[in-house]
Amino acid sequence: MAAAPKYKRVLLKLSGEALLGRQDYGIDPEVIHRVAGEIFDVAQLGVQVGLVIGGGNIFRGAGLAEGGMDRVTADHMGMLATIMNALALQDALERRGVIARVMSALQMHEICEDYIRRRAIRHLEKGRVVIFAAGTGNPFFTTDTAASLRAIEIGADILIKATKVDGVYSADPVKDPTAVRYGRLSFDQVLSDKLMVMDATAIVMCRDNDLPLVVFNLNGAGDLLRIVQGHELGTSVANDAFRTGTKND
Ligand code: UDP
Repeated sequence: MAAAPKYKRVLLKLSGEALLGRQDYGIDPEVIHRVAGEIFDVAQLGVQVGLVIGGGNIFRGAGLAEGGMDRVTADHMGMLATIMNALALQDALERRGVIARVMSALQMHEICEDYIRRRAIRHLEKGRVVIFAAGTGNPFFTTDTAASLRAIEIGADILIKATKVDGVYSADPVKDPTAVRYGRLSFDQVLSDKLMVMDATAIVMCRDNDLPLVVFNLNGAGDLLRIVQGHELGTSVANDAFRTGTKND
């Protein structure tokens, strides 16, 4: 029998890139099916799961703005991209037998629900996975910040950020062979060392609201489940629960 979960309610942040697979644009059906399977395993344990998905596999506002587009319009397109990913994830989850609801910060009544906090919590309590789409609904923000915000709003016990590397490093491990992976960090250390975890707005939201964060590699099969069961994988970031500066692998 699977070990009991450590958390009652979690918020999982997936970047749009997580859906790319071997493609350089869009959604790899095989990958989204696998991701849905990882989420299925967690939901099976009785853990309430909220998801925030990015849009970087389709459009990123900053990239479009670099090409000359008005930034607000570009961010609107980025947020629409997150809705497309959310719909794809909802579909993949439902094909695995997980009931899921997309709730969008931008109104799009023909295809998904509006984000209404109390309704989102009700869905979670009924065991439905809630996919929070369109980020915060505002330009100049990221889906990392949306993930912190929604996690705090719904009272998640932890924010789990899925990445392509197995935690937070002192430098880019691909470019710098001396880079060290941190086991634990404080939010202040992430900010002062400018570590590439999430943008500063998202980190400050976690710090000020005492929301613990785990950064892990989504490519490790079963790792999401293990984290929810209380295993220490990847990098844990919290306030004073951890000493700063220890590279405790
Ligand atoms: N975005 C936004 N406001 C938000 C969240 C996202 O304007 O609250 C836009 C922004 O343009 C961003 C894009 O949506 O580049 C996709 O989100 P993000 O870059 O966070 O996706 P990820 O990198 O996680 O795939």
